[in-house]
Amino acid sequence: MPDLPANEEAYPMSAACEFAPGCAVFNAALEGMPHTALRYRQRYCYSAIQECARYRLARALGRQSVPPTLLPNQDSEAQEILAAKR
Ligand code: SF4
Repeated sequence: MPDLPANEEAYPMSAACEFAPGCAVFNAALEGMPHTALRYRQRYCYSAIQECARYRLARALGRQSVPPTLLPNQDSEAQEILAAKR
C-alpha cells in the first residue's frame, strides 16, 4: 500500500473509487468516528480499492445491492450477500 498523507485534502477526488460519490461509508456512515472513517478512506477508497468488500459487491451486483452498513473489510458478509443473490 502506498504511503498516503494524513491530510485528506491532499487526495484528488479523481484518484478515489468510482463508487465514492454515492458510497455511505465514504460519505456519511461513520460520521461519529471521523478517524476510523479516514483510515478506511486511506486504506481502501484511495488505495486498495479492489480489496474493498463494498466495491466488489457493487461491481458484482450493482451499488443498490450494497447495504449502507457494510464495511470495506467485511468480506465474509459480502460473500454471503453474493451467495444469496446467486
Ligand atoms: S468504501 Fe469501498 S465502495 Fe465505498 S468508496 Fe471506498 S472503496 Fe469505494
